[in-house]
Amino acid sequence: LSWIKNLPKAELHAHLNGCVPISVLREFAQSYQPHPSTSLNSKPPLSHQDIAAGLYTLENFDKSQDIHSFFSAFETVYTLISTREALATATRAVLAQFLESNTADPPECTYLELRTTPRPTSTLSAMEYIHTVLSEVEKYPPNRAALILSLDRRMSVDSDQTAVTVEETIDAAVQLKKQGRRIVGVDLCGDPLAGDMSLLEPYIAKAKAAGLGITLHVAETPKNPPEETLQLLSYGPHRLGHATFLDEEAKEKVVKERIAVELCLSSNLLCKTVPTLSAHHIAFYLERNHSVAVCTDDTLPFRTSLTAEYALLLASPPLGLGLSEAQVAKIAKGSMDAAFTVLN
Ligand code: IMP
Repeated sequence: LSWIKNLPKAELHAHLNGCVPISVLREFAQSYQPHPSTSLNSKPPLSHQDIAAGLYTLENFDKSQDIHSFFSAFETVYTLISTREALATATRAVLAQFLESNTADPPECTYLELRTTPRPTSTLSAMEYIHTVLSEVEKYPPNRAALILSLDRRMSVDSDQTAVTVEETIDAAVQLKKQGRRIVGVDLCGDPLAGDMSLLEPYIAKAKAAGLGITLHVAETPKNPPEETLQLLSYGPHRLGHATFLDEEAKEKVVKERIAVELCLSSNLLCKTVPTLSAHHIAFYLERNHSVAVCTDDTLPFRTSLTAEYALLLASPPLGLGLSEAQVAKIAKGSMDAAFTVLN
């Protein structure tokens, strides 16, 4: 493990609210009071029992669940993190988890590109949400941490009184980048079957023109139509998230256009989009010498760390992939090279 820990590497695919340590959420849960101001999407506020059940699901995400039941698990996190103070505390804890050294161990990663979806709460506007997270990220030097703003596939492109829109998110990213703030890219994430991806083109183009990196979750499930994947690829992303179910045409395009792929082994296994490690699409990319970045996705539900994901690369089959140290070092170097700060 010390060899892995000392390897310079970048975490490029980590969702803020999926990486909050359970100890932090438990502390928030202790002072939680159900109140209309804590309710989400005009539903009744979560009870103490709902919160306890939600935390249990997050910690035990496994056998009975799959990728489609995954997204509702975030309701508990969102309910518990609704104030500026809670958001700042949670962000600090996530940054520390990846970037601070632990006793004698070096930090989990050399460089972190954290991503989050701007989310208005009862006490914060979407812009205040972004500023709160960004201020914490900017406490680290630029070669250690940066922020990606996520578009949720469920976001509307039209005006929406209750939620942030695609346009508002892109405009915020572009403006903050212009002001020299540490936003380096835009992501597309969320329930893989939601939304109409054909509406995104002008927004992605605007972000690209502003010099922002583009990373898109694509083909996360077998139900994602190949036409949708090709459409998302036509927007010219710099990186892709997961890219699990690409057809031949899409694979060829990804390889030809050298689009780096962010791969999250434990996430795919637990969400059951990949049956076994030996069947993981990482093999396809390694065989072609294609750039991949191994990442955690959501450390809380997937009970993982970047060190654990790299250990899966090195461990002998069937526990791991049995890659050589030279192959793993190459993946780590590829993750550093695929960072959006390299674009900027
Ligand atoms: P946030 O953007 O900081 O709120 O992080 C949590 C959000 O990230 C979730 O609500 C999802 O929208 C998104 N997310 C986390 N993991 C995945 C994934 O594996 N696929 C797609 N979206 C994801």
